[in-house]
Amino acid sequence: MDLAAPPSQLPDTLRLRRHLHIGGEWTSPAGADLLEVENPSTGEPIGQVPAGTPADVDRAVAAARAAFPGWAATAPGERAAHLDRLHTALAARADDLARTIAVELGSPLRFATRVQVGLPLTVLRDHVALAARPPVEESIGNSLVVREPVGVVGAITPWNYPLHQVLAKLAPALAAGCTVVLKPSELTPLTAYLLFDAVTEASLPPGVLNLVPGTGAVVGEALAGHPDVDLVSFTGSTATGARIMRLAADRIARVALELGGKSANVILRDADLAGAVKVGVGNALLNSGQTCTAWTRMLVHRDRYAEALDLVAAAVAGYRLGDPFDPATRLGPLVSAVQVERVRAHVDRALADGARLVAGGPDAPVPAQGHFVAPTVFADVHPDSALAQEEVFGPVLAVLAFDDTDEAVAIANNSRYGLAGAVWSADTAAALAVARRLRTGAVDINGAPFNPLAPFGGYKQSGLGRELGVHGLAEFCELKAIQR
Ligand code: NAD
Repeated sequence: MDLAAPPSQLPDTLRLRRHLHIGGEWTSPAGADLLEVENPSTGEPIGQVPAGTPADVDRAVAAARAAFPGWAATAPGERAAHLDRLHTALAARADDLARTIAVELGSPLRFATRVQVGLPLTVLRDHVALAARPPVEESIGNSLVVREPVGVVGAITPWNYPLHQVLAKLAPALAAGCTVVLKPSELTPLTAYLLFDAVTEASLPPGVLNLVPGTGAVVGEALAGHPDVDLVSFTGSTATGARIMRLAADRIARVALELGGKSANVILRDADLAGAVKVGVGNALLNSGQTCTAWTRMLVHRDRYAEALDLVAAAVAGYRLGDPFDPATRLGPLVSAVQVERVRAHVDRALADGARLVAGGPDAPVPAQGHFVAPTVFADVHPDSALAQEEVFGPVLAVLAFDDTDEAVAIANNSRYGLAGAVWSADTAAALAVARRLRTGAVDINGAPFNPLAPFGGYKQSGLGRELGVHGLAEFCELKAIQR
């Protein structure tokens, strides 16, 4: 196979990986099959990694199990020191990580640097501090309630934030005293290889972190269904999350699920409309719309609806599609040809359902090469229509009107999802009152910033459990009551 990415963009050591990381060593897989990694900006192959097998999963889980008692018994300060070394080794690779994510996912380099790499480095840093704290113990009557690590964790992650989604699981798992087998997305495994180069450099105890790349159908199924995995921590689609629950059910294994979303951005009549639209469009198009928390339904008071649509169209016109390495690019490609087909089908369906195209659409120009979809906005979207109900996972925004706050809340909550959301109003008390009524795991008022220490996760079919901060750490712990 000819590999096409120029070496200046992708570290050459990353292009041909032939090993798994098990028991602290780079080790050969049981099978000989390889998975090709593609550059979505060009459609060209850029790397290969092993396609893991159930035998590889068995070996990795056994290594994690063997490492568990020692790691669980390690003092918090020592675990924190290990995480600190991992942070140092990873931070030293920040440029390579950003370029790798720009190549294998297509994120514009600036976004890859600031968010795709900057955020997980912050999360890891936060977990150095969390790991250093002695585990919380409480007295309830005659009981001493202690927290213990849950055991061996199977971590299964998606491609859209290939470093963040991984560290949002690995960092708390390690901080809590768990050991881990990671299966990263088959679309973005090179980022995980760079992470494990850092794991090697940081000299974590053997078996504490293990890497088995491969497909969901083979490695994912084997890991989620493995009898010796105590917790399956999964981020991905709701359909796969349901499958993971079924696989875990037979042995009553714990699951933590971070799934899809269809979040509402509620813009009340008295809001700073220009600010709300600018931030709202930016949020909906973040990472080419491939963000689980994206505010993909913009709900605007009818008195300001026409004005909002003009502002949305003007904002979208400023998003230039192109090469992730071109500083002028604001939107890269979608991750794959399959993803483009899925998004196009949603756009066609919205047109067939009578939504009004305000920007983009099937005929809007896109770069000739690569998996690009033009940012697309629909107005007059019916709250029950497919576009308002289904997660698109691409740069497609639906704008809906409401007449009063009760209707806004009803439309926002008219979803099987409940991951994120936003409220805008000049009256912050009114915005807070609306935020409390939204059936969703997070709400941002007037563009307040993301807080990586706040619990992250969803209501309804957006998931089970929470990641990040002390609440995320709790997912990796069992509670024990000792009566005295
Ligand atoms: P996906 O469900 O197809 O894949 C996610 C991971 O699961 C991949 O590693 C995949 O190989 C694996 N997998 C697939 N089938 C499996 C199976 N049968 N058993 C075990 N593992 C299996 O999702 P995706 O396309 O990679 O990611 C996009 C989806 O993820 C979107 O729906 C998005 O909303 C969601 N997501 C959610 C969050 C969140 O935190 N809530 C974050 C990012 C993405």
